[in-house]
Amino acid sequence: MPQQPEYMLGVDIGTTSTKAVLFTTKGRVVAQHAVEYPLTCTAPGMAEQDPLQIVDAVLTSMRQAVSNSQVDAAQIALVSFSSAMHSLIALDQHDHLLTNSITWADSRAAEWANRIRDQMDGHAIYLRTGTPIHPMSPLCKLMWLRHDQPQLFARSARFVGIKEYVWHRLFGQWQVDYSVASATGLFNLQQLDWDSEALALIGVSPAQLSQPVPTTHFATGLQPAMAHQLGLAPNTPFIIGANDGVLSNLGVNAIGPGQVAVTIGTSGAMRTVIDQPLTDPSGRTFCYALTAKHWVVGGPTNNGGSIFRWVRDELATAETAAAKLAGIDPYEALTSIAEQVPAGAAGLLFHPYLAGERAPLWNADARGSFFGLAMHHRKEHMIRAALEGVIFSLYSILPAVEGLIGPTTRMMATGGFARSALWRQMMADIFEREVVVPESVESSCLGAAVLGLYALGRIASLEAVAEMVGATHQHLPDPDNVALYARLWPIYAAIPKQLEQQYRELAQFQRSASAQSPDQSG
Ligand code: ADP
Repeated sequence: MPQQPEYMLGVDIGTTSTKAVLFTTKGRVVAQHAVEYPLTCTAPGMAEQDPLQIVDAVLTSMRQAVSNSQVDAAQIALVSFSSAMHSLIALDQHDHLLTNSITWADSRAAEWANRIRDQMDGHAIYLRTGTPIHPMSPLCKLMWLRHDQPQLFARSARFVGIKEYVWHRLFGQWQVDYSVASATGLFNLQQLDWDSEALALIGVSPAQLSQPVPTTHFATGLQPAMAHQLGLAPNTPFIIGANDGVLSNLGVNAIGPGQVAVTIGTSGAMRTVIDQPLTDPSGRTFCYALTAKHWVVGGPTNNGGSIFRWVRDELATAETAAAKLAGIDPYEALTSIAEQVPAGAAGLLFHPYLAGERAPLWNADARGSFFGLAMHHRKEHMIRAALEGVIFSLYSILPAVEGLIGPTTRMMATGGFARSALWRQMMADIFEREVVVPESVESSCLGAAVLGLYALGRIASLEAVAEMVGATHQHLPDPDNVALYARLWPIYAAIPKQLEQQYRELAQFQRSASAQSPDQSG
């Protein structure tokens, strides 16, 4: 029997960079390459990227990963894609760009999101499409473009996301995988097709959108020049893949019943896999496709590692400067300071809504606070409370998730926060669950590659990923801390419920104050 090619290339088109990782088909990393690109933010709320720069980054990262590996092209079994969700690009009738890629982080559709939610039965759209009504979604962005830039909207022959744009450059087809489609707010989860009512609301026809295909869809037949440029054989199968969130669950082996993947990078998310699409009657969770039998339910938070960065840069400036002088990583120095005070920070609570909040509040006007400050609190309490507050905030997504899917058990934790043993233990104690940190590979790249193996029939089920992911740390809940956090939790959880009106008024005040003040950049 001829030997099967033994390598797979996972490519993740992210918000700050594209990463390509070449793995063996057993999941071992052989070579990788990342290319960064900027976000353009020249107007309030804007967060765009140049699609041409991203295409370049995708091609360069693939070529470099392959050439770094020195693996023979014929040995590469597949290429498979992951990408960030919610991006939107408008094209004219000749497929020329009319806009940049408007990313998930762009909030200019905020007013339209409110209107769709409050006046246009947005909840019914969410229940069918699984994407919360939020300015991040292409649904809200298209509504905004239609009304705020009507000429551009009228000239637009086609609307696509960034992965579709890359796929079209490679294979000349306008296709979108069910997973990226399921995060547009325009895709009917039961019918696995564009939702006619959502499309009618924004005045877009299915012909203006890409053809939805399963995430296991693949294409071969790269143009020889392109194959040469990439260092790949022209007949290499390319799998269209899925979005980065659902692939991260696969890449950390959190696809079994009750297993939860929690990521705290700059922002954060909690996700778990079920076997059919499911939306929340209260609208607190998303539901995105991985395959027809794997659906990812969860919630994103705006306020993850960015809070620790804020503590480092704004609250603990002296301690940060001292750490830098001593050649110590400031995050590690601040973690040691937080460790000097006991769990619960002597009754100081921190609500981390510095960037508003998505799940479970879905309130862009929510604002952060220290609650319970007393004379006995020092800066170490404030640092500890901030770290605990981020975990409490993630924990507040759990009831919505468990309300839908039933009890959860083990948690796989990833992202920059997992470098801190203290922060990981807080997660085990607040969630009262075992926390496991998988080996640090690019989880969305590995997820993409494993999905590719499945698409080509090289593995019988996605569960094969279990053989590929090891664990670096494991934390069990400490019963004393569990009891202590259980006392603080109801107090923490009651605050945002009671402050909705005040959050709104204060956010309005902040917007008007920053508009009036010449020395505020907004
Ligand atoms: P991104 O989401 O941008 O890819 P990362 O996953 O690298 O980012 O996460 C960055 C965050 O990780 C930082 O903002 C910080 O909060 C946290 N972090 C980084 N290093 C440490 C550390 N040594 N201890 C605790 N937290 C850390």
